[in-house]
Amino acid sequence: MRRTEPEGTPSTTPLLQACGVTKRYGSFTALNAVDLTVEAGRTVSIVGESGSGKTTLARILVGLERADRGTVLHRGRPVRGRRARREFQRSVGMVFQDPYESMDPRMTIGEVVAEPLRAHGLHGRDGERRIRELLDSVGMEGAEPDAYPHQFSGGQRQRVCIARALATDPELVICDEPTSALDVSVQAQILNLLLDLQRERGLAYLFITHDLDVVRRISDEVDVLFRGDVVERGSAEKVTRTPEHAYTRKLLDALPADSPRDRRIGSPIA
Ligand code: ADP
Ligand code: MG
Repeated sequence: MRRTEPEGTPSTTPLLQACGVTKRYGSFTALNAVDLTVEAGRTVSIVGESGSGKTTLARILVGLERADRGTVLHRGRPVRGRRARREFQRSVGMVFQDPYESMDPRMTIGEVVAEPLRAHGLHGRDGERRIRELLDSVGMEGAEPDAYPHQFSGGQRQRVCIARALATDPELVICDEPTSALDVSVQAQILNLLLDLQRERGLAYLFITHDLDVVRRISDEVDVLFRGDVVERGSAEKVTRTPEHAYTRKLLDALPADSPRDRRIGSPIA
């Protein structure tokens, strides 16, 4: 426990851990005893083809869905019970795949961004200023908080969703294929924004994607999910350069032969 450590000793307790998370839909096993660790300030990617269980895992981790078995630990403590769940939900943001579907089209973008603040009773007197700051921080300096989502492009809408994910000042953001519904020309901009925000705020990311090319540019660790099982895990370098599992090799074979080593991503994406 952190409290018993001598002062000055850095904590090694992971920010987030999943232990043996299992989920079934009827007789179908969507997740089979999945373990996962995210350290503070790091990027862990979960990669796997469509249907492998990535979104189900993300939804369980943020409490949108219940696991049949297994535990989620936040800084070493089980996220169990109302209070622990609320506290955890405040420290984690979520960015979904489709920026339009993940917001209410009848709400203004200011209301969208303020949603988590209201949910956690943080929308105080300086609420309007906070919304402005959040929009500015995602490159939406010119945007009116009173405007509606349909007035913006897909990339701008995803920026609004990222601002919403940052509203409670989380230490972890779970991104579920945040660029796959966007035009290719916009994908690199959104990835670069996420990298900038990580550097500025020391965020940890759990980054879900089916694209190993993106994985090798942005992540520290990779977990390869195949039909609900983690079949391979390791550093991004190792998993993408010398994959051990045939499934990982298959994912890699679908990619262009070469890609830049730089973590910053040129536009448009290769
Ligand atoms: P991914 O995000 O990797 O594409 P999902 O987590 O969305 O995969 O889905 C994993 C599997 O679980 C899929 O086969 C999907 O059909 C199934 N599944 C997901 N949600 C449900 C649900 N609510 N009811 C039944 N099956 C589901
Ligand atoms: Mg999914």
